[in-house]
Amino acid sequence: MLVFAPMDFAYAPEDLAFRDELRAWLDENLPKFLADWGGDEDPGGGRAGGTPSSVARTQERRKDWQRRLNDGRWAAINWPEDWGGRKATPVQNVVYAEEMARVRAPGIFNANGVWQIGPMIIKWGTDEQKQRWLPGILDASEHWCQGFSEPQAGSDLANLRTTAIADGEEYIVNGQKIWISTAHLADWGLFLLRTDPEAIERGAKHEGITAFIIDMHTPGIECRPIRDIVSDELFNEVWFTDARIPATGRLGEEGQGWQVAMGTLGHERVGTAGLAISMAADLRSMISAARAVNPDALRDPEIRERIARAYTDIEYTKLLNYRALTKIIKGQKNWPEVPLAKLQWSYLAQTLAELAIDLLGPSGLLAKGGPDAIDGGTWTRLYSFQRYTTIGAGATEVQKNIIADRALLPRK
Ligand SMILES: Cc1cc2nc3c(=O)[nH]c(=O)nc-3n(C[C@H](O)[C@H](O)[C@H](O)COP(=O)(O)OP(=O)(O)OC[C@H]3O[C@@H](n4cnc5c(N)ncnc54)[C@H](O)[C@@H]3O)c2cc1C
Repeated sequence: MLVFAPMDFAYAPEDLAFRDELRAWLDENLPKFLADWGGDEDPGGGRAGGTPSSVARTQERRKDWQRRLNDGRWAAINWPEDWGGRKATPVQNVVYAEEMARVRAPGIFNANGVWQIGPMIIKWGTDEQKQRWLPGILDASEHWCQGFSEPQAGSDLANLRTTAIADGEEYIVNGQKIWISTAHLADWGLFLLRTDPEAIERGAKHEGITAFIIDMHTPGIECRPIRDIVSDELFNEVWFTDARIPATGRLGEEGQGWQVAMGTLGHERVGTAGLAISMAADLRSMISAARAVNPDALRDPEIRERIARAYTDIEYTKLLNYRALTKIIKGQKNWPEVPLAKLQWSYLAQTLAELAIDLLGPSGLLAKGGPDAIDGGTWTRLYSFQRYTTIGAGATEVQKNIIADRALLPRK
């Protein structure tokens, strides 16, 4: 007879204390923030795709929220205490993500900076670099972007070819990046550049890559925003033409860029803990919207089955995240749960977006900005926008290759 050990999902007392402190802070501060700014990030109906003033307003709103979080020491929980963080444990990271999802917390100004770039500066930076750049990331006084992808280097990132050639105390940069989110709004960027242009020909493309912190206002750098599927202009081509950057911005040694980048992407990939909660909340909201504008959909057996399946999948996703967390706590590698969770999130984000439109019926076609758009047109926008989830932060096919190669059919 099989005997299963009971699972204990309860948090330890110190994690409950962490949660209670965060809850109390949110209870006190979030309503004040919403009273000042309103519940909708973009009531103008369009971020970059709308007017420049709606972009500016979104940025100001996010800046203000991050500043308030920072005042409570809740902006960068993973950073060391000396740098304004709380040195949160993996469990506390999950608690934080769950609580933020539960209250549908607003976005922050420097998500990239806080979660990916800041930790890399903490790990790889000199004291001088930490002092120069960490405070501006944390207090939202400087906006950051992350410049890795190139036209021939997306999934195959190590194929990147934008060069940085040393010239005295400077490097001269030439080449092109693409899909760089908010580069046109950023003061600083963490870029991966090739300091050894011969490495690719040598068959050693992971070598000769170096990470640089770059002032986005440097002469010779041009950002060209790209209009995306929902008419927003949030990502860019970034062109470098003989741009001279100081060597003091080099993060780590020449040739260490790959290790720096892998740390950064690792941070991106463990950030899915709160998603199950926000997806469950999305599912509830779309059902309420359907109840108001298209109640017949809720009597359709096919749609009812899709709702039940989505609900079940969201629960699975939550359990998958808990399993990854358990492994981390036991000192094991959270493998292959991380790529599985990425796949599960991409699939569910698109499934929910499609379900929302079918639930809303004809009203689902009313785009953002229109007076009758449901929930500000969020669902209509997501129907198109969520296509990105199977590409960004690791394309689906590539995640499947990784799972097959390293977990299902590991090569000797
Ligand atoms: C919304 C959004 C924001 C982004 N922001 C940033 C940013 O701020 N900074 C940044 O550096 N990048 C950013 N990116 C770029 C992102 O990292 C890349 O899109 C991603 O790495 C995929 O690269 P690619 O677009 O070149 O696609 P490709 O790698 O060319 O892939 C195209 C297709 O081919 C498939 N494919 C590729 N290789 C294989 C293989 N070996 N086997 C099977 N199939 C394969 C892929 O799965 C995909 O379907 C962003 C992307 C999006 C969508």
